[in-house]
Amino acid sequence: MYDVVVIGAGQAGLSAAHHLRRRGLVPGVDMVVLDSGDGPGGAWRERWDSLTLGAAHGIHDLPGLPLGDPDPAEPASAVVSRYYGAYEERFGLDVVRPVRVRDVRPLVGEAGDEVVEGGTGEVVDRGVDRTSPLVVSSDAGSWTTRTVVSATGTWTRPHWPAYPGRETFLGRQLHTHDFVSAEEFRGKHVVVVGGGASAVQFLLQIAEVTTTTWVTRRPPVFDVRSFDQEWGRDVERRVVERTSAGLQTLSVVGATGLALTPVYQQGIDDGVLVSRGMFTRITPAGVVFEDGEVQADVILWATGFKPAVDHLAPLRLREPSGGIATDGVHVPRDPRVFLAGYGAGASTIGATRTGRAAALAALERVGRR
Ligand code: FAD
Repeated sequence: MYDVVVIGAGQAGLSAAHHLRRRGLVPGVDMVVLDSGDGPGGAWRERWDSLTLGAAHGIHDLPGLPLGDPDPAEPASAVVSRYYGAYEERFGLDVVRPVRVRDVRPLVGEAGDEVVEGGTGEVVDRGVDRTSPLVVSSDAGSWTTRTVVSATGTWTRPHWPAYPGRETFLGRQLHTHDFVSAEEFRGKHVVVVGGGASAVQFLLQIAEVTTTTWVTRRPPVFDVRSFDQEWGRDVERRVVERTSAGLQTLSVVGATGLALTPVYQQGIDDGVLVSRGMFTRITPAGVVFEDGEVQADVILWATGFKPAVDHLAPLRLREPSGGIATDGVHVPRDPRVFLAGYGAGASTIGATRTGRAAALAALERVGRR
C-alpha cells in the first residue's frame, strides 16, 4: 500500500515527486512515480526538432535544480529530456517506465449507478466509494495507494475536430502531435488548421518550402500589449474560473492570445499569416470555403490537446458540463485525487507550482504533512 502514486513524470509529476521525497516519502516504499514515456522528458521528449528552446516560450526551473543556460538553438526535446533525466537521478525519484496507466478505481466497491435528484435532474450521488484505497492499473502491473497525483498533461490526447468529409480526403492528414519537420511537405500544398502558436510557427516554417493556406475558426488576433505578470494573472484567473465550475478547459490560445512579434508581423506582411477563415467541408481533393475550393495535399491539424484524464473515468469525476470541477489541485468530488498540471497549471511554471501543491495536499490527506 503506497501513500501516493504519481502518474506522469513531466514537469508536474517531477515537481510533485520532488516535494514528496523532500518530506520523507521513499520511492518504492511510500510512493511511486509511473510514466508512459520510453525515457525522461515528459511531452517535451516527443516534440519536433525545430522547436528549439529559443522558439519555445521558456522552460521554468524544477525545484532544487536549475535548468541553467542551454543552447537556445538546441531542440527543446533534447534539452528537456536531459534535464529531467538528470533531475530524476539527482533526487532518486526512481520513475517506473514505460507504464501506461489504464485506470484508477476504488479497491473496495465498484462504481454504482448514478442517483439523480428527481426535481432538478442533478446528479447527487455517483455511487462511488470515496474512502477506500485506490488501485492504479496498467498492463505492466497494479499499485494500491491511498492517494493519486494525476500529472498526465495533454500530449497524449490530441484534439481532432470533426468536419464534414474529413474521412474522404485522399491526401495526408496529421496533427501537431505527429509533426516532424517542414521538409517533408516540400512541393505540396499544405492547409494548416488552428489559431494558436503551433499553427503560426508551422506556417512560417512550411511557407519557406512550399505553399500554404491558413484556416481558423475566428479571425486571429495578434496582441500588442505586453505579456507581463498582470497578463499572466489575468490568463490564470480566466482559466481557473472555468475549471472550478467544471467546464471544459480553454484552448491555450483562447486563454493566452498571440503575441505580435516582429517575425509574426513579417509573416502577416508576406501574406502567410493571413487566415482564409473556416472551410465548410473537406473533399477528397481539398477543402471548400464559401467562396471556392482549395486543392490540398496535406491537412495539418494544429488544433490543440485535451487533458489526458481518461484513466480517472471509473471515479466519475466529470460534471455534466464535461469538465472535472477543481478547487486548486483538489477535486471536490474525490478527496483521494489531486490534479497537477491541469487547467491553469498547464505551463511549465503552472505545472511546477501545482505539482508542489498536489504533493502537499496528498501528504495532508495521508497524515504525513
Ligand atoms: P507532460 O510533459 O505532458 O507530462 C505528462 C507525462 O505523463 C508524460 O510523460 C506522459 O507520457 C505521461 N502520461 C500521460 N498519460 C499517462 C498514463 N495514462 N499513464 C502513465 N503516464 C502517462 N509550456 C511552457 O511553459 N513553455 C513552453 O515553451 C511551452 N511550449 C509548448 C509547446 C507545445 C507544442 C505544447 C503542446 C505545449 C507547450 N507548453 C509550454 C505547455 C507544456 O506542455 C507544459 O509546459 C508542460 O511541459 C506540461 O507538463 P506536464 O507535466 O503537465 O505534462
